[in-house]
Amino acid sequence: MKNKFVLKKCEFIQSPNYDDRPKNTVVDTIIIHCISLPEGKYDNDNVNLLFLNNLNRTADPSFESLESLKVSSHILIKRTGEIIQYVPFDKRAWHAGKSEYAERENFNDFSIGIELHGSVSDEFTDNQYSSLKNLIGELKQIFPSIKDSNILGHSEIAPKRKSDPGPNFKWEKIR
Ligand SMILES: [Zn+2]
Repeated sequence: MKNKFVLKKCEFIQSPNYDDRPKNTVVDTIIIHCISLPEGKYDNDNVNLLFLNNLNRTADPSFESLESLKVSSHILIKRTGEIIQYVPFDKRAWHAGKSEYAERENFNDFSIGIELHGSVSDEFTDNQYSSLKNLIGELKQIFPSIKDSNILGHSEIAPKRKSDPGPNFKWEKIR
């Protein structure tokens, strides 16, 4: 699947966890997340497996709560800065969940989800910031309605449930 909604120079692995955006949706928002499984452990493939519904839920006690959870993100940025895309940008990935901000809700409908391999307790890597910044530039070309003020953290649109990307994320590096 190669079209303008799939990055040319990056690995694309199709997640089954996506569907169509509502008709005539204008994509104008980017949601920044972080994830690691188990939290703070990076030398494994678990996030990739989660997005493909292949995570072994018995591999770690913290995975039990992920039972039957079907999630995805358009993009995962690894600690090395390497980018993997899981869902074409014109499709709806399942990353935000119940969400509300500035009198809008259901952010999955009109946003691009970007997961950084990381934790709210760790620093992100320089390579991750540099890949993220380049990626945001590309996304603004594909979706001119994306403005810096619409680049939000998961914690901003779901403050009661979510704290990612957390206090260590340096917004000034990308805004
Ligand atoms: Zn998140």
